Amino acid sequence: MEKDIQELTNYCLNCASKPCSQKGCPLDNDIPTFIKYTKEGEFEQAYQTLIQTTVLGSVCGRICPHQKQCQGSCVRGFKNEPVSIGEIEAFIFDKAFEEKYDRSIKKENVLANKKVAIVGGGPSGLTCSAFLARKGAKVTIYEKYDVLGGILSHGIPDFRLDKKILNKTITSILNLGIEVKYGKELGRNLQLADLQKQYDAVFLAFGANISRKMEIEGEELEGVFGGNALLELQNHPDYENKIVAVSGGGNVAMDCARTIKRLGAKKVMVIYRRSKEEMPAEEKEIMEAKEDGVEFLFQNNIVKILGNKKVEHIECVKTKLIEKEGAKRKIPIDIDGSNYILDVDYVVMAVGANVETDILNTQHLPSTERKYLEVGQNYRVGDTNIFAGGDLIGTTSTVAWAARDGREAARAIEEYIN
Ligand SMILES: Cc1cc2nc3c(=O)[nH]c(=O)nc-3n(C[C@H](O)[C@H](O)[C@H](O)COP(=O)(O)OP(=O)(O)OC[C@H]3O[C@@H](n4cnc5c(N)ncnc54)[C@H](O)[C@@H]3O)c2cc1C
Ligand code: SF4
Repeated sequence: MEKDIQELTNYCLNCASKPCSQKGCPLDNDIPTFIKYTKEGEFEQAYQTLIQTTVLGSVCGRICPHQKQCQGSCVRGFKNEPVSIGEIEAFIFDKAFEEKYDRSIKKENVLANKKVAIVGGGPSGLTCSAFLARKGAKVTIYEKYDVLGGILSHGIPDFRLDKKILNKTITSILNLGIEVKYGKELGRNLQLADLQKQYDAVFLAFGANISRKMEIEGEELEGVFGGNALLELQNHPDYENKIVAVSGGGNVAMDCARTIKRLGAKKVMVIYRRSKEEMPAEEKEIMEAKEDGVEFLFQNNIVKILGNKKVEHIECVKTKLIEKEGAKRKIPIDIDGSNYILDVDYVVMAVGANVETDILNTQHLPSTERKYLEVGQNYRVGDTNIFAGGDLIGTTSTVAWAARDGREAARAIEEYIN
């Protein structure tokens, strides 16, 4: 294994301009330096380099969309394959677990006697907690479930992320001296105003995991599910001999389709209104879904769900893609007269997710036009002692971006409470 990894590191050019770090990696991990140490067999040094900027290396190394992040900017990738940055990062963090490297980073104690509450124990909340605890703050995470990890634990299926690896990561973070209060849900048995009084600062990171609706006829029929809820609550129906249509083209669509196929559905179709090239899911994920037997209908769109009480058919339409000034991606337009009907038993909507707006309203939190929590500069909510980050504020929805918010908000909180 070590030999294979060192071979991967030999391929890195150790570019002085570090595009992989500076343009590609949301966490600004010092990639050339940790790869150089790995190449030299200095694994602990490689690890110490990485933990300056991340506490989630074993997770990010495995599930970041590398092609869209670090590896997408790798100079090697312009002509050939990029360096396998994710694989090397995961190796180093796994090695740190095995060898029990010192994970603490010297505590600076600049925040001794300061108390911070974190609401939500996903990638953003965990990262913020770790960076504050390293500064000596007394950190308490309030989490609505009895497990931490957020979507990493109750969204991403086990076949993509081994929960043993996740649990080791979480334990190593909690060992920094972080307290957790499980079963505490903001808006239900936890009120923001109370936290504001008890703590010097509060960091909100409760995500955005309410499935968006497609706003089409038939969405209320029995057998229509929200993709996020399906993965979060695992309330799957019996799929034996059933045909399932999954609408969407991102992580949630891929994870739903693959999970449902593995749970025994006869046929699973991912229906996506743009082409494969525009799909937010990575090429690797599409390939793996195909290997699982998932079928893809690109440039098709569900326009109606039909049935008597429960789903029986869907009406689809073919689309064409047009360029539009100012638009980042091509726009799908329905082709007149191309409508057709498919027999299906279930429909899964995986077309994006929203913040739970009730919480924003009841806790008197401001929202943006797109209904995310509104923060100002430095992740701060107005002139309060509340800070927020991750999916909740509408950051690019990946683990590394959510973690970046957590780390940067920790810096802002330190500045604020000192
Ligand atoms: C199915 C799926 C697959 C994905 N796959 C990938 C991938 O492969 N790679 C990638 O980089 N990104 C992926 N993402 C995106 C990534 O998981 C998210 O961007 C990231 O988890 C956001 O982190 P967060 O901490 O902001 O929120 P979350 O991970 O959602 O964590 C929020 C936490 O807050 C808790 N919580 C919620 N409400 C309350 C409340 N009222 N009170 C207290 N606690 C509360 C939740 O239980 C949870 O622990 C995927 C997302 C989904 C849904
Ligand atoms: S861009 Fe690629 S080759 Fe250059 S330092 Fe980064 S990982 Fe190595």
